[in-house]
Amino acid sequence: MPVKPKAYQLIKKELDSANVVLVAVSKTKSVEDILELYNLGHRDFGENYVQEMTEKAARLPKDIRWHFIGHLQSNKVKLIAPFVQLIHGVDSLKLLKEINKEAEKNNRVIDCLLQIHIAQEETKFGLDEEELDSILKEFVDLKMENVRVIGLMGMASFIENIDLIRREFRNLKEIFRRLMTHDSRLTTLSMGMSSDYKIAIGEGSSMVRIGSLLFGEREKK
Ligand SMILES: *Cc1c(COP(=O)(O)O)cnc(C)c1O
Repeated sequence: MPVKPKAYQLIKKELDSANVVLVAVSKTKSVEDILELYNLGHRDFGENYVQEMTEKAARLPKDIRWHFIGHLQSNKVKLIAPFVQLIHGVDSLKLLKEINKEAEKNNRVIDCLLQIHIAQEETKFGLDEEELDSILKEFVDLKMENVRVIGLMGMASFIENIDLIRREFRNLKEIFRRLMTHDSRLTTLSMGMSSDYKIAIGEGSSMVRIGSLLFGEREKK
């Protein structure tokens, strides 16, 4: 499936006018496909497998901002710590500690988002509000210097019920608002993908992760 430059221009314009950051999700797509968007001026790309992201980063321009959007295992943090821009799916204190350790080795401060479970489905990763509060408390107490929690990430249910999706995003925005009252440095709410990004923007998303609308459908595994 080819890259869709027209769709890219339209979506980019729509997001720019709403002040929303576009992360182009390039998982399973080739470095040539990524370069096509790069040559249109795009710099933020999202991947959800460590090895795939690392291999692509090695072959592509160094000014690309790589977003890790998948489920990250602690033992793989060291592979992306030298270059990753933002880790979207952090869901445990153990992982935050590991990111802090590897960031320190690389003399970096790595930005992270905590993933909140907002969907009806049982299978998705993420924290509930109670777990979120306890992780944040311990995070503050531990004074990690090489990791910054800059916001939240969430995925809505994969269904066509627009009202339900809207309620899930609204719930995430509410949680984000509540945290902002304690920490005004929070900047980023990553919610919305190809099928639901318009709803997410309506509910106050500041960053969307869009793959298939830009790169075409992915091959089913
Ligand atoms: C694959 C993926 C996306 C993008 O999905 P599309 O439906 O192709 O836009 C967004 N977020 C996460 C976490 C993903 O894994």
